[in-house]
Amino acid sequence: MILNEYEKIMATSKVYDTLPIIYPALGMNGEAGEVAEKVKKCIRDNNGIFGGQIKKDILRELADVLWYVWATADDMGFTLEDVMKIGIEKVQERQKTNTVHGSGDNREKINNYPEMYMRDNWYGD
Ligand SMILES: [Mg+2]
Repeated sequence: MILNEYEKIMATSKVYDTLPIIYPALGMNGEAGEVAEKVKKCIRDNNGIFGGQIKKDILRELADVLWYVWATADDMGFTLEDVMKIGIEKVQERQKTNTVHGSGDNREKINNYPEMYMRDNWYGD
């Protein structure tokens, strides 16, 4: 319910008319940087203590990140619900394959193809 309302309201706020997908993907990275900047400044200026106003400021930046996530997905014909469903699938698969830790876009499949991902095999040794 809230997702539909959010998407309806946000659809009225798209101001770019060129570079769909690219424009919001770049903006998303910029806003994620603003989140990181606020966290950094909290460490530098507030001994890493996340007080009420700092949390509110970070929350506002997270809302900006979310706008760009929505816009990027929307430009590709997806909804936030689609994004969330994929997120759930990825986490559940990683939990099932015990690959929550580590890195890589598709690491949940690592245990299904062990030879392919074995470092020794990369160099033919
Ligand atoms: Mg911002």
